[in-house]
This record gives sequence, structure tokens and C-alpha cells, in this order.
Amino acid sequence: MTSLSCPCGSALYSECCEILHSGKKTAETAIQLMRSRYSAFAKYQIDYIVKTTAIGQQQALDVQAIADWSKANQWLKLEVVQSNEKIDKNHAQVEFKAHYHDGKQAQIHHEVSHFVKHDGAWYFLDPTTNQQITMKQACICGSAKKFKQCCAQYL
Ligand SMILES: [Zn+2]
Ligand SMILES: [Zn+2]
Repeated sequence: MTSLSCPCGSALYSECCEILHSGKKTAETAIQLMRSRYSAFAKYQIDYIVKTTAIGQQQALDVQAIADWSKANQWLKLEVVQSNEKIDKNHAQVEFKAHYHDGKQAQIHHEVSHFVKHDGAWYFLDPTTNQQITMKQACICGSAKKFKQCCAQYL
């Protein structure tokens, strides 16, 4: 892989995830968002990681930890295992394997991620944020629904 190729593996970086990282376009599918978030870790685009996380979770992110994780590893390759772009009207699921090297050995991070679409844009639902969300409050994705009836089932 040359430095011109996109970390997500599909094309030239300038014709692939860079368009999303620069804000010129937003991801059209959950897979595209997932790929661009992987590339953002590889390219140290920490702002992109933050702004593509569910709106109501962004302030709860540990941005320093994300930045450290991005820098500490060498990002080798992304493998999308399977996806379902429509588990309901505005949620999607993507299973992937992120291959990276932690400085000592090669590692594989295997995850089934969930994404929510709000106002035409896709966001990652982060299952690791440390925040109290009650079932009755407005959903973290920005929808008018209660959390319980919206994203709670995917976190
Ligand atoms: Zn890409
Ligand atoms: Zn929601």
C-alpha cells in the first residue's frame, strides 16, 4: 500500500475518505461512514471521529484517549465482514475487523457497530461513552423520539 492509497483500502485517499474528512461530502451509507472513521484513526483526523459520533454523545467522548489510540497504532487494513444498512428506518449495523499493529504485535479489533441516521447524515453509536442516559429522555441521536424507543436498543 502506498501513502496515496486510502487507509480503508478502496481507492486513492484523495478520491475516498479524504472527501469526507475534509467535510466536502457526508457519508451516504453506514458502511461509508464506518470506513471513513477507520481512515480517520489512520490519518489522525480526531475532529472527524468526534463529529461523526452521535450528537448527544460527543461531549462525553474522551478525545485525548481517542487521539492517543489513533497515534499509538499503525493502521494496517480494514475488513468489512458484513453489514445491514436497514435494521430499521434510521439504524444500520456494520461488522468489521480493523487490523493494526500496536508497536509490539499485529492485532485485530473485531466489532459489530451500530449507526444512526439523523437529518440525512450518519453517526456512530458509541457503546463505550461514560454518561448517564435515562430511557425517558430525548434520544442522543437528535431524533424527536425518546431514547428507549430509538437508539437504546443498539447500545
Ligand atoms: Zn477510504
Ligand atoms: Zn436515536
